[in-house]
Amino acid sequence: MLPGLGFPSVHDACLEAIWYESEGFNRFRGDEWMKEPCRSCPEKAKDFGGCRWQAYLLTGDPAGADPVCDLSPHHDRVMAAVAQAHAGNVVAKPMVFRSNRNSRALAGERPSSA
Ligand code: SF4
Repeated sequence: MLPGLGFPSVHDACLEAIWYESEGFNRFRGDEWMKEPCRSCPEKAKDFGGCRWQAYLLTGDPAGADPVCDLSPHHDRVMAAVAQAHAGNVVAKPMVFRSNRNSRALAGERPSSA
């Protein structure tokens, strides 16, 4: 779901090649991709900069610090969302567990009958 990242299928490549060589599984390995404040952060070996999807969805930058982190320049977005939730301005939605069917439904695809 991150822009520009493809994830090969085992129908097209062996698992070893997918894991070690594909862009999708290697773009965010290690710490060379990190920007500040993560690059020089002493916590980076513990949390790896946080969640890439969360960073992308909340900031538009999948290589930025997870905005949940108070060192992120976008941390105010998370704090605003928390304040909004505490103010009662958010309508609670039921939790949807990940499954093939639910993922396709959330992506706007019609579930298959298989
Ligand atoms: S997300 Fe925050 S704590 Fe984690 S590496 Fe980046 S700056 Fe450090």
